Amino acid sequence: MIFKDKDLPLLWDKVRAGQRLTVEDGRVLYASPDLLGLGWMADQVRRGRHADRATFVFNRQINPTNICLLSCKFCDYASKEGWDNAYVLSEKEILDRLSPELREVHIVGGLYRRWSFNDYLNVLRVIRRAYPHIQLKAYTAVEIDFFARKENISISEVLQQLKNEGLVCLPGGGAEVFSERVRKQLFPFKIGWSKWSEVHRTAHGLGIRSNATMLYGHIETSEERLDHLLKLRALQDETGGFLSFIPLAFQPGNTGIVERQTSAIDDLKTIAISRLLLDNFDHIKSYWVTVGEETTSMALRFGADDIDGTILEERIMHAAKAQTPVGMARERLLRIIREAGGLPVERDALYNVVREYPRSPASAPEITAVGAR
Ligand code: SF4
Repeated sequence: MIFKDKDLPLLWDKVRAGQRLTVEDGRVLYASPDLLGLGWMADQVRRGRHADRATFVFNRQINPTNICLLSCKFCDYASKEGWDNAYVLSEKEILDRLSPELREVHIVGGLYRRWSFNDYLNVLRVIRRAYPHIQLKAYTAVEIDFFARKENISISEVLQQLKNEGLVCLPGGGAEVFSERVRKQLFPFKIGWSKWSEVHRTAHGLGIRSNATMLYGHIETSEERLDHLLKLRALQDETGGFLSFIPLAFQPGNTGIVERQTSAIDDLKTIAISRLLLDNFDHIKSYWVTVGEETTSMALRFGADDIDGTILEERIMHAAKAQTPVGMARERLLRIIREAGGLPVERDALYNVVREYPRSPASAPEITAVGAR
């Protein structure tokens, strides 16, 4: 590789030698205009871990309610009681959205003051009773903190009760950017790093895996993005409980915070830098809902190895006018991976392999249930 940025070869030597990149190295990455150089390095790291395999999951999002007592400035999803768009899904409406072939249900929603913790537990109960094989990935650290405060019980007790109802992992949202400056401006009443990390650390201690997100492309600086990544890296060193890192491109919608969404260049650079800095995360996800199908496909050559899943109904980003489809058929996910030259692998919520697909649709039939659980 011929790097355009003369600072990158030095960093590549470190990465190749298995040395950890420092905060100073991170600043060099963010300052670099050499997108292809960054992408190439990240792609080499991804290949070293996953070869050509790229994963997705057959999943569904359930957002039980959009009624939320907070009013975060960047959120177009939340509603208030009595508003036209406010909703609370009934048990039947939840079950009507599910089908037996799903592997994962991703459950997040608003902080609804009329619901007790038991009502939130009941969402898991109802799904588990009808579909015991579907893995439950549910509730952000923000919701878990809300349950604990509402019931006056510990974070650990909340997580244990969720685990008893079948929770297998946390989706990782609510992190936004771990900058107090940003928090005070955009979501002053929502938890910050201290509580977010306490929830995830506690979950990991109870054997509940989790994911980690970063909302980028609003008012945060590169330095704040870097700090966010290094905080996550340090927590992963401590617990080893994170499954994946998921950068979420901010959808401006009607928030008025920024005029336009991040560029594909920023999206790809963010994926590449994440892959290079998060040397203790197995998986870097390109979330097609926020960056689109084309960028997701390219991201698989810029350090990402996972593209999330079918989702089938996405309300949160689409409330902020995300331009992507609300859900995607399995065939389109396979196409995204194949266009990037990848070998599609269907997984479950914990990244166990469910099915391996041929590199091209015309070749041999897929191999099923490899290591499925
Ligand atoms: S971001 Fe979450 S906590 Fe904040 S208003 Fe929206 S739904 Fe509520």
